[in-house]
This record gives sequence, structure tokens and C-alpha cells, in this order.
Amino acid sequence: MYQLNVPSRILMGPGPSDVHPRVLQAMAAPMIGHMDPAFMKIMDEVMRLLRYVFETENELTVAMSGTGSSGMETVFVNLLDPGDKVIVGVNGLFGQRLVDVIERCGAEAVQIKAAWGDIIKPEQVEAELKNHPDAKFVALVHAETSTGALQPLEEIAEIVHNHDALLIVDAVTSLGGVPVKIDKVGIDACYSGTQKCLSAPPGLAPVTFSKGALEVMDKKKEKVQSWYLDLSMIRNYWGGERAYHHTAPISMNYALYEALKLIEEEGLENTFARHKKLGKALQNGLEAMGLELHVKEEYRLPQLTAVRVPEGVNEASVRKQLLDNFSIEIGSGLDELKGKVWRIGLMGHSCNPKNVITVLSALEQILVNEGAKVETGVAVKAAMDYMYKENVLVG
Ligand code: PLP
Repeated sequence: MYQLNVPSRILMGPGPSDVHPRVLQAMAAPMIGHMDPAFMKIMDEVMRLLRYVFETENELTVAMSGTGSSGMETVFVNLLDPGDKVIVGVNGLFGQRLVDVIERCGAEAVQIKAAWGDIIKPEQVEAELKNHPDAKFVALVHAETSTGALQPLEEIAEIVHNHDALLIVDAVTSLGGVPVKIDKVGIDACYSGTQKCLSAPPGLAPVTFSKGALEVMDKKKEKVQSWYLDLSMIRNYWGGERAYHHTAPISMNYALYEALKLIEEEGLENTFARHKKLGKALQNGLEAMGLELHVKEEYRLPQLTAVRVPEGVNEASVRKQLLDNFSIEIGSGLDELKGKVWRIGLMGHSCNPKNVITVLSALEQILVNEGAKVETGVAVKAAMDYMYKENVLVG
């Protein structure tokens, strides 16, 4: 028999991100039962910490068992009845997935489209709400991982509520990397994943629901079509009677607990500042090299940068060299952007100055070897200059 032998990587793709040693250690803690009072305490703390990162007072804030997509399904199967109408922003792969999930619920998805890399404009949402006054929900992806675009939400939230609809937001890549601010923005239902800026392994999906969303849930006509994701039962396990529903993934909850504690110790605002500054440092470095970024500056995510593959360069070969020679994983383009961009992540524990400098220097040399026309010797300097200016580097 062979022992498991996993290479040590630097995870700079679209997720999963690197996991802090304390989180890995937490996962090795002894197994206890899912009804053990000690586990209930851990669940209580996970709920408190999730409210902290979501910036919400919402009582129904829990971690669903399953990856981010289970959070997506949870939101829709618990809120939608067949025939309901949802206005949905589609400007990337995850907007498309929203449409698929909504239609599988027997609901109608009214699509607002924008180019991949662009954002959904408030006036587009307003126009569709006027065209479809019976629409009960608007669904948007906050951080579109397939493009690296950050969707502004505040103005849209106001429009949605003025039309008596509810705002549903995908925060899989945004939570912990940029402010989500559930209560301040007025997001009614939101889901995320553990493996991006929260920097735990993939396997849980934090979700949160406003009072307005709970009212809709309570009035739902049809039985929730998924037994596993039915919040009317899951709520009684995370709160209330603590009634058994399914066996909770115990070790994953340890991991999420520890990962959230790390964010609390750093302070949420400091976590956001770290992502913002290092994301900009990386982007400055890439641009100094002469590479083109896919998203306009004002909508760029700090934690995930889509950079265009220069003419004539074999994008897969560059990724392979980064992985084989430097153990660095970056992401490829998906679907419409396949072969056209690389996606470089700086999420959670992966978001540190060392990774910025390492990826810039390795990428520069590989591109030179591939015959790409890039400026040499300036990328690292551009990133370092910015990091000094922003006091990311001291000494
Ligand atoms: N939504 C967004 C924006 C994502 O980036 C992802 C995963 O990359 C998902 C949903 C789905 O999450 P998962 O792959 O964890 O199921």
C-alpha cells in the first residue's frame, strides 16, 4: 500500500486557495458526533462568525453541507415555486449556472445579458423590473469568477426593493475578499463557498436569509423539491430543537470555524485591505510587463485577475510550466474566454506579497522563453513600488 502523496502547491487560481496550517490542524481534531453538545457549540460559533463576515444580523445564517453550488441550489429551491419569475444577470459562467438552477426549479429566468467582463447596469435591472412587474426576485453574481468582474450592488438593491422584489446574490468568490455587507446593501438571500477568500477546503456553503426572504420561504406553496437542502428542517438542526437532519461534515465545520477565526483575528477591514492592495500590486505588475487586463479598472476584483494571453502564446503551456517548475497553479479561461485569458487568484491565505512577486517573476521568464513580447525587469518593481507605497512591505 502506498501512502497518499500530495504535492505542495501555491494555489493562485480561481479557487481553491491555500489553506492556513491552523485550518489543516483543526481538521485533524478528534471526531465527535453531530449531536454532541461540544459540536453544537462549534456550530453556534460558526454561525456567529459567518454573520461577522457577511456583516448581517440575519438569524438564518448557516453553512450548508456541500460546495458553493449547493448554496446556490439551497437559495432557489427554498424560495421559488414553479412559475415564479427571476430576473437574472448573465455576464459570465456563473450567471449562466443561475439560469440553469432557476429553470430546474420550474421557474422562469428572465436574462439580462452583458459582455463577459462587463457588469450588469442598474438601468438594465430597472427596465426588466418594469417589463416584468410580476418578477419576485433579481439574482446577480457579485464576483464573477469566470471573468474577474465585481458587480456593484447598492444602487441595484434599492431599485429591486422599490419594485417589491428580493435581491439574491452569489458571493462565492466575494465573501472575505471584498465587502458583501448583507444588511447595509439590502441583500435578501446570499450564498458562498469555503474554498475561495475564506481559505478553508471546499465542502461547505455559507448561506444567509433576510426576514423578507424568510417570509417568502414560509409562504412557499410547494414542498421544497430537495429533501437534502430543505431549510425548514435544516434550521431545526442549526438552531431551535437541534433535531437531527443529516450527519454534518464534522471536520469541515472545524475547518470553517478556524478559517473564520483567522479572519476575525486579522479584522475584516484589514482582510479587505490586504486583498485590495495586493490585488492592485499584482495588476500593476502585469500591466508593467505589457499584458492587458480583461476587466476595466473600476470593476476589477482584487482577488481574481483575468489577464489576456498575448498573441501567439500557448496559454496551456504557460500554465503547465508554472505548475511543473514552480508548483504555482493559475486558472485558464472558461467557455467564451477559453484560451484567451489566464485567471490569477489572490484569495485568502494565498493573498500575500511573496505570491505576488513569485508569480510575476516566474510568468515573466516563461513568457520570454515562449517568445512573447513583454517588458522585462519592470513587473516586480512595479508591484514592489506599490506595496511600499501602501505600506504592505515594511523595513
Ligand atoms: N458561483 C461562483 C461565482 C463561483 O466562482 C463558483 C465556483 O467557482 C460557484 C458558484 C460554484 O461553487 P462550487 O464549485 O464550490 O460548487
